[in-house]
Amino acid sequence: MRERTLTIIKPDAVAAGHVGAIIQHLQREGFAILGVKRLRLTQAQAEKFYEVHRERPFYPSLVAFMTSGPVWVLALERDNAVAHLREVMGATDPAKAAPGTIRSLYGSSIERNAIHGSDSRENASLELAFFFSTHELVEA
Ligand code: UDP
Ligand code: MG
Repeated sequence: MRERTLTIIKPDAVAAGHVGAIIQHLQREGFAILGVKRLRLTQAQAEKFYEVHRERPFYPSLVAFMTSGPVWVLALERDNAVAHLREVMGATDPAKAAPGTIRSLYGSSIERNAIHGSDSRENASLELAFFFSTHELVEA
């Protein structure tokens, strides 16, 4: 079934010049881009976006990393988009991510892992609404 998901190309991948390669990778996987924004997350935005991890030891460092430079936020659409994006991204730790996955190719540590992807349809809806209003999502 056709569905939508949200991805963030994280500050490490943007700084390293991997945005073009990652977008090409996603398009080759059949994702249509319905919306795109380049922005720098504020402290408050990053804290809220990763709220579910607030009690985890890595949270302060994660928020500092995610606000350290510009990111690219993309709204994607495809059959089975949420699960497929997670597959194409690879495991959270790039060292454990399958060869050829985006995190394996472009991530450098469990924190600086190049890309975010929504982990469920419900979170995809919430995360899409976090960054985009409905009229900003333009069908392919
Ligand atoms: N993260 C980290 N240390 C950890 C686990 C996660 O720095 O031990 C960071 C990493 O950038 C990850 C993000 O926190 O992408 C969110 O963690 P989650 O467990 O939701 O992983 P994801 O869904 O991104 O694979
Ligand atoms: Mg997650």
